[in-house]
Amino acid sequence: MKQFIYVDNAATTKLDIDAFEAMKPYLLEEYGNASQPYSFARKPKQALKEARAIIAQCINADPEEIFFTSGGTESDNWAIKGSAFSDTQKRAIITSQIEHHAILRSCEDIEKMGYPVAYLPVTKEGIVTAEALESVITPTTRLVSVMLANNEIGTIEPINELCKIAHQNGALFHTDAVQAVGHIQIDVKKLGVDLLSASAHKFNGPKGIGFLYIKKGTPITSYTSGGAQEFGMRAGTENFASIVGMAVALKKNCDTITENTRHIEAMESQLLDGLSSAGLDFVRNGSNERVPGNISLSFKNADGEALLHRLDLMGICVSTGAACDTVNTRVSHVLNAIGLKQEYSNGTIRITLSASNTQENVTAIISALRIILLQGRI
Ligand code: PLP
Repeated sequence: MKQFIYVDNAATTKLDIDAFEAMKPYLLEEYGNASQPYSFARKPKQALKEARAIIAQCINADPEEIFFTSGGTESDNWAIKGSAFSDTQKRAIITSQIEHHAILRSCEDIEKMGYPVAYLPVTKEGIVTAEALESVITPTTRLVSVMLANNEIGTIEPINELCKIAHQNGALFHTDAVQAVGHIQIDVKKLGVDLLSASAHKFNGPKGIGFLYIKKGTPITSYTSGGAQEFGMRAGTENFASIVGMAVALKKNCDTITENTRHIEAMESQLLDGLSSAGLDFVRNGSNERVPGNISLSFKNADGEALLHRLDLMGICVSTGAACDTVNTRVSHVLNAIGLKQEYSNGTIRITLSASNTQENVTAIISALRIILLQGRI
């Protein structure tokens, strides 16, 4: 049988079996609308309450600060547009050049409506510095939005430091934590953020569900108009089976972060050592502070897209850059922003390991890359 090795876990993850089992009753039996007053709605209503409490606990928030959304994209759109529209006087937004397109396109939308947006540059490790933020922030800044962990190169940003600068200047702070929640410990109080986006399918939950953390008292407009769901801020019948699945998956991931990190980091070292010993000329992108398992590799004078397809033929799933960006298969905005030389950037692939990968998987990946890059064959 042909091997199948999935190492594109930053694109999406496998649904956790316990999360799936927890969802099933709410799809098949307890399907009542949680907004109805009759007894058939009691269980879904209770499930919603419990899921909100579990998720809040995982990030040290209060349950009333968790707002369910359809995923990371919606949470990001809401954070940017909802903060921008909530104050007609302070209109400026600051973000970084290496954000996910859910943030960048949302910013472009509001720019077209006359809101000024500044895009901060990053260091060659992909870090947004305090100096860069301080040089553009003004009393008219409404929101600063910087991601917690970059999806392409894994760099973890100095959120707490950036957040303090935003607050000293009277601005709100949002972080897109889609690549971080469930992978590193998150404490919204320690981070100090006002808004935080998360998406279940990045931590073994179902697709099409996520949440936006909104700190109590944060001025933000509602996302949709209609019913009174989500404390009147995000109308629409709740996707409570997926919400239940998201809570189970997040709790399980958070409970096992330490052992998962140890296992993933051991595989990371094995991969990097193996590739170096093979004599391959490559750089690993990102900073030393990285989300575990995110390995962006740029091979000199190689073609990342061809590499992806050759690995695919060998049963190995990797990505070239942002998975949500299949249209732009050339050098990504992140690799451009870190100033990677073209002889390396064209040969970039992203391998993202999960706890369910094995040392045997890594051995097979090293062997496949040796065959493709050194022997030029499949
Ligand atoms: N933000 C980041 C950093 C991401 O990596 C992604 C997805 O890759 C998103 C937002 C979008 O999340 P979703 O797929 O849940 O819409």
